[in-house]
Parts: sequence; C-alpha cells; structure tokens
Amino acid sequence: MGLFKKSASSQSSSGGITMIPAAKPIIGDEERAAVDRVLRSGMLAQGPEVKAFEEEFSQHVEGRHCVAVNSGTSALHLGFIAAGIKAGDEVIVPSFSFAATANSVALAGGTPVFADIDPKTFNMDPAHVESLITPRTKAIMPVHLYGHIAAMDQFEAICKKHNLILIEDSAQAHLATLNGRPTGAWGSVASFSFYPTKNMTAGEGGMVTTDSADIARMLRLLRNQGQEVIYQNEVVGFNNRMTDIHAAIGRVQLRKLPGWTATRQNNAEFLSANLKNVVTPFVAPGTTHAYHQYTIRIEGEDAAKRDRFMAQIRERGVGCGVYYPTPIHRLPSFKLQLDLPETEKVIKECVSLPVHPSLSKADLEKIVTVVNDVAAKL
Ligand SMILES: *Cc1c(COP(=O)(O)O)cnc(C)c1O
Repeated sequence: MGLFKKSASSQSSSGGITMIPAAKPIIGDEERAAVDRVLRSGMLAQGPEVKAFEEEFSQHVEGRHCVAVNSGTSALHLGFIAAGIKAGDEVIVPSFSFAATANSVALAGGTPVFADIDPKTFNMDPAHVESLITPRTKAIMPVHLYGHIAAMDQFEAICKKHNLILIEDSAQAHLATLNGRPTGAWGSVASFSFYPTKNMTAGEGGMVTTDSADIARMLRLLRNQGQEVIYQNEVVGFNNRMTDIHAAIGRVQLRKLPGWTATRQNNAEFLSANLKNVVTPFVAPGTTHAYHQYTIRIEGEDAAKRDRFMAQIRERGVGCGVYYPTPIHRLPSFKLQLDLPETEKVIKECVSLPVHPSLSKADLEKIVTVVNDVAAKL
C-alpha cells in the first residue's frame, strides 16, 4: 500500500496480511484546516486557541478550571506540585498502569505507594488503598484504566475520612461517568492526555482540571516559567505550555469526541454480545465506559497461553496489545518487591482488542470470528 493512499477501511497491510490495527488516530480535513489557520496567523505559541480549548474542555468537566499543557505527563506532574505534594509525601497509585502515573509522583518529589486492583474493573481496589494509608499519605490517585471510571464515590469517602487529597489520572477516560458525573470533575485535580492513541488527540498535549481557583492559578504559573506577567517570575516554573497549533487540533477533536465515544461503546457492545470463551470487560453499575481499550482476559494466569492467543489472532489479521506487560513497581525505574496478587494475575491474562471508532461492521465481525476460533482451540 502506498504511503499516501487514502483508504476508507481501518485496515493496513504488512507482509501480506491485512491487519486491523489495535489503535488508530482519526485526522480529517477539519484538523488540517485548523492547523493551517494557526500557521497562517503567524502566532504559533500558547495564545487564543489554547484559551478557547480550555473553555470548551471545561464544558465536559462540570465547568471546572482547565489548564492546557504539553502532555498528559506534564498535566500529572504540575497537578501534583500545584496540589502541594512534596518530598516525604506518599501518594497511593495503582501499579497496573502506564509508568507516567507513578513517574509524575516521583518527579514532584513524592513517593508513589502501589495498591492492588479489582480484577473485574482493572482499577484500584478501595479496600486495599485504605489499608496502605500511613501518617505520611497525602493523596490518592486512581487511574480510570482503559476508560472505566474508578470507584470515585468510595475514594471520595476515603479521602474525606482520612483528610487526603483526591487526584485523578484521567488520561484514558475522557467523558466516562459514574452516577452521571464525569471524570475530571471528582478530584481536587485531574489530568487528561491528548497523545495520538488516546480517545482524542492534539498531536501531544494534556489538560489539568481543578475546582480550585488557587490551584488553577498555580498551574498557569508552573507551565509558564512561574510568570503571569512577563519577566515577573513568581515561582520556579517550567515551560510546559501547549502551542496554539496543538490546541487547534484538540478543539476539532473535542467536538468529535462525544460521537466517537458513542461509537466505541457500540463497538464494545457488539464484541461483548458475541465473544465467547474469553472474559469480556465488566461495566460497573452506574458507570458509562469510554472504552479507550477493550480489554479481555484469557483465564488461567498463564502468560504463555495469552501470548499464544495474541500471536494467533495477529496471524489472522486482528491487531492487539498488552497494556501493560510489567507492573510499574517491578520496572527497573522502581524495582520494588511488593505483594500485589491481583495485579500479577491480570498482567498474565489481559489482551486489548481493537475498539476504535474507525472499525467497520466487517472489521467487528472478523474480530469476533477470529477471537472465538482461536479461543476455542487454545
Ligand atoms: C497516556 C497516559 C499518561 C501520559 O500521557 P502522555 O500524554 O503520554 O504524557 C498518563 N497516564 C496514563 C494512564 C496514560 O495512559
């Protein structure tokens, strides 16, 4: 296939196999026009597009303050600093997540304390989190993994009871809800990512949301060298600004996000109704799932069996991935020996299948046929 060939299908071809990709960013003419508009204006750095993006994003998080930055990791990092996390503070996070979840705690000077998960939702287990609270615990940060909102009502109650700060890693869960309340509207601070494989993209980028005007002001200072007025630096800050080029892409994508989310939900519903011999994703009562990933489990706590399953479905053209193959606490960057049995079990069983909005009906039917065939003979 030529590099510039336009294709209506989500499929790509390599080595003779037509592969349904595990993830696929959707970039259209509107995104290109938006970038061109900014380039023609000659004003490329943070400006009116970023401001408009923040205002528009705010409508999806119950009107909270929104501060755009250059990545989801920066959003987490600045969020921790603005929330007051400092050396000696412990922040409870899941080990079953992307490394940035814990890196950002450490980069702010805090200590990540790793909690186990509920294997049904893949999210942090509130009971285990509560057992890890010490006098040094300052905050709890659930991750809404794969787009399934964490048990925020329970985490909210735990934080109230122990006087802790609730923070959300919402990088994978734009528009997911619990009891009608969206991610990004629960924590004192919440962070979103606009990396290309996320539910919406800005090229790269992140958004911090908060209900506190003081935290919002600190975030704006931190992302811009500590200055509100140029050359009057109030605090030691970073250059973590988002450019107007990225914000212009993000604004277009944000308008498309509700429709894409509905398509992800429909795709997931079709898969869950038809897949057999695998554990399909659980949707907790009262929640809407944003399906950043559609993650099944191949039961048996047998990573070799799961890997065999993946090799066989890939051979037949169904892309897939393991998010994440190593729990964060065991990565060389942390190297901790902890007893997190549910995390260790799920890491051997999980596989994410394509669920993105550019899948065709034929793609979905092919995924069902191939997964059911392979799973029956494992
Ligand atoms: C993607 C992601 C991040 C980091 O976002 P970037 O924009 O890639 O920096 C943080 N946490 C989780 C759970 C993620 O999936």
